[in-house]
Amino acid sequence: MRILAVAAHPDDIEILCAGTLYKYKKQGHEIFLAHLCDGGKGHTTIPSGELKEIRKREAEQSAELLGAEIFHGEFPDLELYVNEASIKTGVNLIRRFKPDVLITHSLRDYQSDHRNTAQVMIDASYPASLPHYNCEYEAHPVSYPIFFMDCLAGIDFLPSEYVDISDEMELKKKMLLCHESQRRWLQEHHVIDYIELMKKLSAFRGMQCGVKYAEGFQMYHAWGRIYPKRILP
Ligand SMILES: [Zn+2]
Repeated sequence: MRILAVAAHPDDIEILCAGTLYKYKKQGHEIFLAHLCDGGKGHTTIPSGELKEIRKREAEQSAELLGAEIFHGEFPDLELYVNEASIKTGVNLIRRFKPDVLITHSLRDYQSDHRNTAQVMIDASYPASLPHYNCEYEAHPVSYPIFFMDCLAGIDFLPSEYVDISDEMELKKKMLLCHESQRRWLQEHHVIDYIELMKKLSAFRGMQCGVKYAEGFQMYHAWGRIYPKRILP
């Protein structure tokens, strides 16, 4: 299968679903990553233009650890809206990577870029299948499930499916550590250690389903997107 994970910012996937992606990868599936925003506001002192390039490199290093291809979006942080431009980007992403499974943020997450990314990908998934919707790539006329990954810190998110990532935790941590620029900024601005945050969330979801570490998901329930079988690894 071809698995496409679309997040808002360069380090979101590492925190919320990288263990599951690595598990898919080990089973022989192909992984594609994308972030719609450029990450250029995620620091207090590094100028935006410089930061965008740093974060692109960090995301590439992380994707390399996973053995995944990555797309870097150009929407400035906190300036991603659900509009024609963002939906065209979403359609192009779907048509370029032709997913059998799409993973994105929850519509209930804390930040507008996260919520808008989820809405953009939902709204892009139908036109992506239509040959008469003009875009850079050919239509992807395949139906596939959409999964929402956890909300940050697990707030207001009750998973309906869990993936045991106990054996994938080491790589998930290494991937997150690639995002070096975020470690200090998050410590100073949000007073959190992002590795600790990720580990606690994974341990919390693990406790709920009886394993050491897990990631939680919800299948997007809409007509044509519900599958009566287990698809997550
Ligand atoms: Zn984010």
